[in-house]
Amino acid sequence: MTETVTNWAGNITYTAKELQRPHSVAALAALVADSAKVRVLGSGHSFNEIAEPGPEGVLLSLAALPAEVDVDAAARTVRVGGGVRYAELARRVHGHGFALPNMASLPHISVAGSVATGTHGSGVRNGSLASAVREVEIVTADGSTVVVGRGDERFGGAVTSLGALGVVTALTLDLEPAFDVEQHVFTELPLEGLDVETLETVMASAYSVSLFTDWREPGFRQVWLKRRTDQPLPDFPWAAPATEKMHPVPGMPAVNGTEQLGVPGPWHERLPHFKAEFTPSSGAELQSEYLLPRPYALDALRALDAIRTAIAPVLQICEVRTVAPDEQWLSPAYGRDTVALHFTWVPDTAAVLPVVRRLEEALDAFDARPHWGKVFTAPAAVVRSRYPRLDDFVALARELDPEAKFANEFVRAVLVG
Ligand SMILES: Cc1cc2nc3c(=O)[nH]c(=O)nc-3n(C[C@H](O)[C@H](O)[C@H](O)COP(=O)(O)OP(=O)(O)OC[C@H]3O[C@@H](n4cnc5c(N)ncnc54)[C@H](O)[C@@H]3O)c2cc1C
Repeated sequence: MTETVTNWAGNITYTAKELQRPHSVAALAALVADSAKVRVLGSGHSFNEIAEPGPEGVLLSLAALPAEVDVDAAARTVRVGGGVRYAELARRVHGHGFALPNMASLPHISVAGSVATGTHGSGVRNGSLASAVREVEIVTADGSTVVVGRGDERFGGAVTSLGALGVVTALTLDLEPAFDVEQHVFTELPLEGLDVETLETVMASAYSVSLFTDWREPGFRQVWLKRRTDQPLPDFPWAAPATEKMHPVPGMPAVNGTEQLGVPGPWHERLPHFKAEFTPSSGAELQSEYLLPRPYALDALRALDAIRTAIAPVLQICEVRTVAPDEQWLSPAYGRDTVALHFTWVPDTAAVLPVVRRLEEALDAFDARPHWGKVFTAPAAVVRSRYPRLDDFVALARELDPEAKFANEFVRAVLVG
């Protein structure tokens, strides 16, 4: 490539022979048909080589396509183009009086790239972002478009697809009436004395709940409750209310975060932790995340506590969230009530990887599935063994992409070893 293209974090430099930014879906389809190897680059917020096509491949950006956001008020759906980010989608949807059920911690990420990796927010009743998708339009290897909707037997593989089926040029998402949310932050929730029922109650005490810890001490430094104003105000006796606005990462400016202190506001300005116009998270970091069955949550947290002196030196912040089960075969929350254990590391791969390995050993007994878009070292065979519908996905990939035009090293390792 003549230009250097990296992911958001800067830890991956793509080696593709060219970067293409088609201006129309027709041009995109022709380009796909004429190329031997293609991977799509979304907004580049993944931390591993999932989007890398390899030196012979084409990296395809959808950023120059029209930013289509078409709300169908009668059907309560929105059709969104394959390059659109959540910030733009949310603003437009809200303008029509509608909401998405949930958002990730940041609105900067593309919709297609997020649902492709199983991206999620929090909430015991909130599925991954892919759960809102009802139809997906995919330009496949020969340049033709395949539309797969809910009810189609291929749908379980079509949304959280790791980009392995083709180029997603549009998605149709369910909407609901717009709602307001208040954010309440509490400080210092001890791990000691926490039992399974209390942890469940804490995580279910608002629409979306996150626990944050730096693992320098046992327990959680901050608890973030996102309460829908149409739901009751929770009684939260386990920690003290914060008296000022806080950033989850120690030392970072609170101004980057969405409003707190119980100030109500529209769903899309409270469900993400970070404002669209500011740098999300710390901005200089790597991330890992593991999703495991929720009944294991407390034991898994105790296992992390046992190795916190190894974790803390390379950790900026750890976040604990919940995700409701979904039906996407490759979703890390597939088929099970999930607790998600997230780690924002310092931006030092050499220092972080040994700790990631240690962490994976500690979580091994808990059937943990790594987040597809983040750093992990678990062997592909172990990851594969944790997806009961993997063979169905492989069959779908062979059907839609018989020449494996959209398979890269990352995908090949996961799917076939
Ligand atoms: C600061 C920060 C905070 C984050 N917070 C969260 C969080 O709260 N929850 C969470 O679950 N994750 C989180 N993530 C991870 C992030 O959501 C995922 O990495 C997600 O995939 C990012 O979307 P993207 O468009 O940047 O994808 P990319 O990294 O660009 O691509 C990811 C994959 O999607 C494929 N893809 C992208 N667009 C298309 C398309 N149109 N058609 C086909 N395939 C496509 C790519 O080929 C690739 O395989 C965070 C990441 C960062 C940097």
